[in-house]
Amino acid sequence: FAPWTDPNEKPLIQFKGVTKRFGDFTAIDNLTQDIYAREFFALLGPSGCGKTTMMRMLAGFETPSEGQILIAGQDMSRVPPNKRAVNMMFQSYALFPHLTVFDNIAFGLKREGKPKDEIEARVAEMLRLTRLERFAQRKPHQISGGQRQRVALARSLAKAPKLLLLDEPLGALDAKLRQQTQFELVDIQEKTGTTFVIVTHDQEEAMTVASRVAVMDEGRIVQVATPSEIYEQPNSVYVADFIGEVNIINGVATPQGDGYDIAWAESQPPLHAQTTRGFSDGQSCHLAIRPEKISISTEEPETRNKVRGTVHDIAYLGNLSTYHVRVPGERIIKAQTANTRRLSRRALTWEDDVWLSWTDTAAVMLEE
Ligand code: ATP
Repeated sequence: FAPWTDPNEKPLIQFKGVTKRFGDFTAIDNLTQDIYAREFFALLGPSGCGKTTMMRMLAGFETPSEGQILIAGQDMSRVPPNKRAVNMMFQSYALFPHLTVFDNIAFGLKREGKPKDEIEARVAEMLRLTRLERFAQRKPHQISGGQRQRVALARSLAKAPKLLLLDEPLGALDAKLRQQTQFELVDIQEKTGTTFVIVTHDQEEAMTVASRVAVMDEGRIVQVATPSEIYEQPNSVYVADFIGEVNIINGVATPQGDGYDIAWAESQPPLHAQTTRGFSDGQSCHLAIRPEKISISTEEPETRNKVRGTVHDIAYLGNLSTYHVRVPGERIIKAQTANTRRLSRRALTWEDDVWLSWTDTAAVMLEE
């Protein structure tokens, strides 16, 4: 179920023409974006693009210089942080070292003066949700980093916020634990139905956890889509390049049959691509092709998109191999193949002459 595709669904969060300036520096530039209830929404972008500023405005720690932020239809401009149904979990999710896991999770509920049995029931539920029942009576220094992260999450969810903001929540965890915790986050988000907005500069993390990803560049959102749309149909070279590996070939488009011929290198036959976008005759364009969509062979393939080259470098990654192939124009194209079984034919090696090929739909045509 994708709430953002349902015309009857009202957005939980609305950014309406939001600009945020610090002095004469514009951190967020006239940004309009809806986020729906039950979404796991990721803000992804390089350092300094404005991700944290967006979160801080949602939480109420910063106010927009222009524009409006609405939560559940209500303008937030005069609503202080503690009066919003929003909780924020920071990268440095400082737990109280002298309190047990149980008391850390109960902290906010106690401060609100909730009855004791209600607090106990709620904390027990949070311990179950985050699989921390066994650790309830331990102190933070007596549990692992991953477990501490789950305590912080349980604490953030204890007050049942409508919206949980996660700012680089897994930054402190090592790679393996980080990956495992990403799956746990998704599981917990689905079980609670809470709307999660996560900030990350790690594209794999965004792709793993999010239902939709917003890619940011210098205070703007440049594309919002599901992880697979972002990967398969990036709308710019910037997005294609930011998400995963990509080959970019520059060329000139000519309408041809069901798509475009693209002249890309002198005395080379044109490449061909299909697209729903319109290009004029002679318009400069870029072709974005993921390495794993490129086949590599020693024999000339039947397809019309083929380029002859020489193996320049090979990176063996166990399950995959990446070939760097030198093609006309002194450029390198990367092709990646899965090492599914022992190669029965002779394995490719440096300086081998090869053919690279791909289907008409494998390449995404992008504007300059
Ligand atoms: P990172 O991934 O490094 O945390 P980010 O995308 O979260 O980056 P922000 O923290 O939102 O980036 O900052 C966006 C821009 O606004 C940066 O150039 C930053 O220097 C600037 N900025 C943020 N807060 C302030 C402030 N209080 N005063 C002045 N400039 C600020």
